[in-house]
Amino acid sequence: MPEPLPADVLLDLDRQHVWHPYGPMPGRQEPLVVASASGVRLRLAAPAEGRTELVDGMSSWWSAIHGYRHPVLDEAAHAQLDRMSHVMFGGLTHEPAVRLAARLVEITPEPLQHVFLADSGSVSVEVALKMCLQYWRSLGRPGKRRLLTWRGGYHGDTWQPMSVCDPDGGMHHLWSGVLQEQVFADAPPPGFDAEPSAAYTAHLRGLIARHAHELAAVVVEPVVQGAGGMAFHSPAYLRVLREACDEHDVLLVLDEIATGFGRTGRLFAAGHAGIAPDVMCVGKALTGGYVSLAAALCTSRVAEGISRGEVPVLAHGPTFMGNPFAAAVANASLDVLLAQDWATEVKRIEAGLRDGLAPAAALPGVRDVRVLGAIGVVQLDHPVDIDAATRAAVRAGVWLRPFRDLIYTMPPYVTGDEDVARVCEAIRAAAAAG
Ligand SMILES: *Cc1c(COP(=O)(O)O)cnc(C)c1O
Repeated sequence: MPEPLPADVLLDLDRQHVWHPYGPMPGRQEPLVVASASGVRLRLAAPAEGRTELVDGMSSWWSAIHGYRHPVLDEAAHAQLDRMSHVMFGGLTHEPAVRLAARLVEITPEPLQHVFLADSGSVSVEVALKMCLQYWRSLGRPGKRRLLTWRGGYHGDTWQPMSVCDPDGGMHHLWSGVLQEQVFADAPPPGFDAEPSAAYTAHLRGLIARHAHELAAVVVEPVVQGAGGMAFHSPAYLRVLREACDEHDVLLVLDEIATGFGRTGRLFAAGHAGIAPDVMCVGKALTGGYVSLAAALCTSRVAEGISRGEVPVLAHGPTFMGNPFAAAVANASLDVLLAQDWATEVKRIEAGLRDGLAPAAALPGVRDVRVLGAIGVVQLDHPVDIDAATRAAVRAGVWLRPFRDLIYTMPPYVTGDEDVARVCEAIRAAAAAG
C-alpha cells in the first residue's frame, strides 16, 4: 500500500485533474476527503466544521441501503475475489450472475422473465430502450421509434436516457439538434395520496393515443421522480399508463433504479400500482452500494419479438457484463435485504422522518415537506445555497447533498432512530441556512 497523501496535496491534485459529478474543471468546490466508512458513518481524513464523522443521509446516492462495511457483503466480496473478480460473459457463464438473474426474476413482477446485466443505471436504460426499439423493428414497424415520458424525470446521463430526462432540468436547450426529440407529457400532479386528476389522466391518454403510431415505449420513474425533483405522484397514473399502452400497442418501461429494493415502502414501486411493465430497470441499491451494477429485465413477449427479427439478437454486450464480483455482492445484498423485515425498517424510518421533518414546514422559505418510505424531502421556495446548507448539515454531523431547491435524505435502512432524528435536525439546519 502506498503512503496516504497529505490532505492538502490530495485536494490540490483533485482540483487540477479529477472531474467530479456535474463539475467544472478545474474544480470549484472543495470536496470532503473520506478515509473510510462503516455502518451509517463516513469518517473524514480531516475535520470539517469540527466533525470527523458524519452520518450519511444520502446512502451514497441512494445505493448503500445496508450501510458501509456490512459483514455479509464484505464476506461475499472477499470470497468472490478469492475465486475470480471477473471473467468475460461472451461464451462463458458463472454462478453469481445466474443466481442473480434468477433471483431478480423471482422478486420482480411476474411477466419479467429475462435479465440483461449492465454495468450502470444509465447503460441499463440504454439497453431497455434498445430492447423496445428493436422489438418494433423486428415486428416490421420501424416507425415506432420515439419515446414518451412525463416532465420532471431523470433516467441517466448517456444520450438516449438524457433525451427522456426533464427537458429543463436536463438542459435539453444545450443539446438541441443532438438529442432525439421525444414526446413529453406534463409532470404528474404531485402527491402520493392525492386523488388522481381526471384532466391529467385524459392528457396522458390523449397524448399516447395521438402518438401511438410513432411510439416505441413510454418510459417513466414509478411513484417517485428522483434526481428530476424528488416529486411523488399517485400510483393511479401508472395504471393509466399501463392501460393506455396496452390499448395502443406501446411498450411500458419502468425505471426503478432509484425506487427499487424497498425505498418507497414496496419492494418495487410498481407494486403500489399493482402493475407490471414490459421492461424494468434496476440499479443503485442492487449491490447495496458496493460496486456499480444494474439490470434491464423484460417480458417473454419482448424477448421473443427481438429474437424473431431480421437480426435475431440483442446487439449489446459490455466488456464487464455480468461481472462476477458485482453479482456476488448483489446476491449478498439481496440475501440481507430479504432475510429481514425490511418493510418494517422502512416504515420505522418513514415515521422518524415524518416526525423530524414536520417542524421544517414552519421555517421561512420552505415551500413543501414530504415523506414517502425512506425518503424525506424539504423543498424551498428558492434555490438552495448549496455551500451554506452543506456546511450547516456537516456542523450537525450529517452528510447531505442538496440540489436545486431541494434538501433531502434517503438514509440507509439500518439508520437507527437517533441517527434518523439527527439527519432531520441537519435538514432543518440546512433549510434555515440555505
Ligand atoms: C441514478 C439513476 C439513473 C442512472 O444510473 P447511473 O448508475 O448513475 O448511470 C437512471 N435512472 C434513475 C431513476 C436514477 O435514479
